[in-house]
Amino acid sequence: MDPMPQAAFPDGRRVAALGQGTWHMGESRSSAAEEVRALRAGLDLGMTLIDTAEMYADGGAELVVGEAVRGRRDEVFLVSKVLPSNSSRKGTIAACEASLKRLGTDRIDLYLLHWRGRFALGETVAAFEELKAAGKIGAWGVSNFDVDDMEELMTVPGGENVAANQVLYNLARRGIEFDLLPWSARRGIPTMAYSPLDEGRLLRHPVLGEIAAAHGASPAQVALAFVLSRDNVIAIPKSGSAARVEENRKTADLKLTADDKAALDAAFPPPGRRRPLEMI
Ligand code: NDP
Repeated sequence: MDPMPQAAFPDGRRVAALGQGTWHMGESRSSAAEEVRALRAGLDLGMTLIDTAEMYADGGAELVVGEAVRGRRDEVFLVSKVLPSNSSRKGTIAACEASLKRLGTDRIDLYLLHWRGRFALGETVAAFEELKAAGKIGAWGVSNFDVDDMEELMTVPGGENVAANQVLYNLARRGIEFDLLPWSARRGIPTMAYSPLDEGRLLRHPVLGEIAAAHGASPAQVALAFVLSRDNVIAIPKSGSAARVEENRKTADLKLTADDKAALDAAFPPPGRRRPLEMI
């Protein structure tokens, strides 16, 4: 397999640009063992960034991740998120400690505010900085922040330490290419692309099917290759199946040609003007 593309955080730390999502994991006891197997298969293949959140299955996804990383924590770059409703100064710290317990670890590598809520950004940032000083998180970031939210964050004490923004980005949702992606790139802040397969909807698109067939690849690989072709963007597809995780990993072998990219642009035109950030 071709080497894994990399992304870099502002502090210079580098991670595999193809990670693993976990939304909907931990929702049923019967599928948990297979989800653990899928995550471990991804780790074996170098997909060492795992994205989770306290919200997913009400902590159930973090339990699955904790099981998957048991005995191999040092290989993994763990990302989790605090719910806006918990993101007060004290609430953020309590939420992080609860996540650490479920994950069975003493540190989260990147801790994100899941989306903006009613608490002042300054409160959440102060809590993030306290968690960082205590070694409970390595870095912090945000999710679902548009350019105006990022600009506001920069005015908060410590806000300039934001290490990532996780947003909806895939072929069918290209709005961030107009403003947010260049804004982040200028500041060396990586973008984490969530729902890179548009929750699976992209896989039925005929243009992806045609490009995939021409390369002996799959539509999922075409969708992921598009996201990974962007500089400093991390894709976090979710799969609860080890076979599909392996298929996703092989995206690194697929090189989209200029003709492929033109066909994708024709089917999914890049934004010609500013659009508000979309969210799932
Ligand atoms: P994705 O775009 O990753 O799509 C996931 C779906 O695609 C699942 O149904 C999965 O099924 C299927 N799938 C995965 N790989 C393949 C494949 N090779 N072939 C066919 N089907 C495939 O959607 P998500 O919404 O899960 O986004 C990814 C991650 O991003 C989440 O899991 C979560 O960690 C994060 N996220 C963050 C949000 C935020 O607000 N910050 C919001 C939404 C997501 P199966 O499991 O059966 O393989």
